[in-house]
Amino acid sequence: MSMNSVGRPTTPQADTATGGFASLTGAKGLVQDEALIFEMGGWNKTGVDLPDASIHADDLGDLVRTAPIGLPGLSEPETMRHYVRLSQKNHAIDLALYPLGSCTMKHNPRLNEKMARLAGFADIHPLQPQSTVPGALELMDRLAHWLKTLTGMPAVALTPKAGAHGELCGILSIKAAHEAKGDTARKVVLVPTSAHGTNPATAAFVGYSVREIAQTEDGRVDLADLEAKLGPDVAAIMVTNPNTCGLFERDIVEIARLTHAAGAYFYCDGANFNAIVGRVRPGDLGVDAMHINLHKTFSTPHGGGGPGAGPVVLSEALAAYAPTPWLVHGPDGLTLQEDAIGEAAGAFGRMSAFHGQMGMYVRAYAYMRSHGSDGLRQVAEDAVLNANYVKARLSDLMTPAFPEGPCMHEALFDDAWLEGTGVTTLDFAKAMIDEGFHPMTMYFPLVVHGAMLIEPTETESKQELDRFIGALRALAEAAKAGDADRFKGAPHLAPMRRLDETLAARKPRLRWKPEAPASLAAE
Ligand SMILES: *Cc1c(COP(=O)(O)O)cnc(C)c1O
Repeated sequence: MSMNSVGRPTTPQADTATGGFASLTGAKGLVQDEALIFEMGGWNKTGVDLPDASIHADDLGDLVRTAPIGLPGLSEPETMRHYVRLSQKNHAIDLALYPLGSCTMKHNPRLNEKMARLAGFADIHPLQPQSTVPGALELMDRLAHWLKTLTGMPAVALTPKAGAHGELCGILSIKAAHEAKGDTARKVVLVPTSAHGTNPATAAFVGYSVREIAQTEDGRVDLADLEAKLGPDVAAIMVTNPNTCGLFERDIVEIARLTHAAGAYFYCDGANFNAIVGRVRPGDLGVDAMHINLHKTFSTPHGGGGPGAGPVVLSEALAAYAPTPWLVHGPDGLTLQEDAIGEAAGAFGRMSAFHGQMGMYVRAYAYMRSHGSDGLRQVAEDAVLNANYVKARLSDLMTPAFPEGPCMHEALFDDAWLEGTGVTTLDFAKAMIDEGFHPMTMYFPLVVHGAMLIEPTETESKQELDRFIGALRALAEAAKAGDADRFKGAPHLAPMRRLDETLAARKPRLRWKPEAPASLAAE
């Protein structure tokens, strides 16, 4: 029987993972098999007892419900157990390292959570009169100050709700700036081949066509190709720095100079700001607009697709076009200017209802204040140190995509080292689940064959990194020793085995339909 590095069997569960016994109920060890809440609950059960309502008359007429509402009812302990069991079927940053590259899955300090739950922040409503929420406005102002200071930029739009939303905000500001100059001939946005998919998607969404810039052998923007593609039809260039290969764009100042000389603006994708925060100010590099993923760099939770926050810092050239609302210092203190008038007359529009993600602002600000400027600098240094440690400790077994020199916050490997083993990047990543680790980012960036992109982040200790590296080394050795079977069917020990993820994403089954009652079924 083949075992994983912590001595658990890795062959399929039906015959050996349960020690030769197949579970009779689908539950395994102390892990309960769990049905849908709709399948478990009965509408005549409840966790609370309420007296019958005394309302007898209603004015709903024909719309009055005649059948039971059909919501599942469970007792309180059943409810608790249901959700706790579900929560244990997936991985979480609170369980172990989450090595996804590009996404920056770092620990979210509990202090941030405590601050975000303060009643003065958590219990206010966007429709409250502004005069009743001066503290919230001041926090937004201070957060804006830190973001501007850390990036060396004069303005920031706080409202975008994710990195991709920030990109949209930045490119709309750029479009507005061109239009204000009467320069409407620019129809193209330049994007490097290694870009995150949201970059070309944003440009296309705004109505630009996308032209790719080639990459050099050493994983950076090809300056000659950039120069050849810049012209009077180019509105902007979108470059990620450090880029998605985990490398600093050495020629960034020259990239900015060439871009500006061609009359275009420089959008920097700032998703990787955690690698340089406190060390480099993008404003000094010639950047015109950059989003900052608060849910990456500043440790606010990603939470299942939201709520994130993607504030966009803007250069002098773009500041006037920032979306409303604007936080304005006036004689009565801070106010949110909601309309494109006065100081905000040039605003291109707005990105969201109200003021953005207050809870994320509080968490990010708490993170900044608890680290201080020296602590934030150390965030960048430790993030880079940790990634280089991973790279150095795995490079004898796995092949780094760009072996020359150190990396920034991410260690990128290709699949050259798997050649001839019969194991693919996907197989390897799935086998990591059997070892208790979430897989790294796979097959991204697309410019690297069979890419495996690992971002440990600064919140991992050396001990945690060593555990992770130990598991990867054991797997890499197993792959090279010809134990392909362990990889092909992996994960063997997860609640779900290998899924058709494309099908699951394209055709998710989101609806539960009750079984037809016997009387109906008979008809
Ligand atoms: C995460 C990421 C984005 C998009 O950010 P979201 O907050 O997920 O919308 C864009 N570019 C890069 C390089 C990223 O890593």
